[in-house]
Amino acid sequence: MPLVETVSGPVDAGELGLTLVHEHLRISSESVRAQYPHLYDEQAERERAVAEVSRAMEHGVRTIVDPVAMDFGRDVTLALHVVEETGIQLLIGTGLGYLPLPQHFARRDVDYLADAFVHDIEEGIQGTGVKAAFLKCAVDEPGMSEDLDKVLRAIARASLRTGRPIMAHSHPANRSGLEEIEIFEQEGVDPARVQIAHTGDTDDLGYIEELLARGPFIGMDRFGFDIVLSHRRRVATVVELCRRGYADRMHLSHDAAATIDWFPPGWVERAVPNWHYTWLFDGVLPDLREGGVTDGQIATMLEKNPARWLTSSVERPPT
Ligand SMILES: [Zn+2]
Repeated sequence: MPLVETVSGPVDAGELGLTLVHEHLRISSESVRAQYPHLYDEQAERERAVAEVSRAMEHGVRTIVDPVAMDFGRDVTLALHVVEETGIQLLIGTGLGYLPLPQHFARRDVDYLADAFVHDIEEGIQGTGVKAAFLKCAVDEPGMSEDLDKVLRAIARASLRTGRPIMAHSHPANRSGLEEIEIFEQEGVDPARVQIAHTGDTDDLGYIEELLARGPFIGMDRFGFDIVLSHRRRVATVVELCRRGYADRMHLSHDAAATIDWFPPGWVERAVPNWHYTWLFDGVLPDLREGGVTDGQIATMLEKNPARWLTSSVERPPT
């Protein structure tokens, strides 16, 4: 059985169990945090992260994947704290978000960027021995750019060098998932190692099937974030895709954060009250079952598919 890298070390892929494939312990504006630390309450944020993870574990969740990236506040010390307090199997990654490419990387080449990612996978993150389990990149609303082309190629090369899978944030309204797959394939990545995140932000089945035909997993991973697409439409999309035989290609999650500093206090609770770690269990799974999704299909989406994405075998090229 292949091994998967968690914050507390490698575990057998068969041990992952019920997995939320896209949740965040904390999303935080890195530069603001570094320069104006008085705006933050580190202790309260740690407590919230522990509380959210604990609530999920009460529903049987054994593993959480946190695809927090650079500029969104990736922090190994927070991850280690939560793991120690809860015993959750936590996976963190390496890569970049969709903010402008920092000057440091802008004037250096693709392989320099790939080396930085490989370091996190082979040596460890932020000076610790905690290794990245996967690679993360993002193409959002503005679409592809020269900088993002470079980032995606670096992500692809780091994946080929290490065998680690890729999670690619996408913006379905501009069909960016297809552009991401195109670049990964040009670089030689097997699309079965890629998950196109936030595909569930659309119910355009034409786009989704076009994407699925290229071979990636898709993230139906923003349940509760109903201001982009309503709960009813998110559920109907997963129901229909299950009916069409795609249960083995979908991941279910919320993309929720125990703390997010992008909004003033109270905004999440008012605007998107179901956007938290357990809405799947409280509100989504009952509606999926009502729509005809079987317990077997739910187990496939929440248990088997995360392990398959993390481990589906890719030969490491000879070095
Ligand atoms: Zn996210």
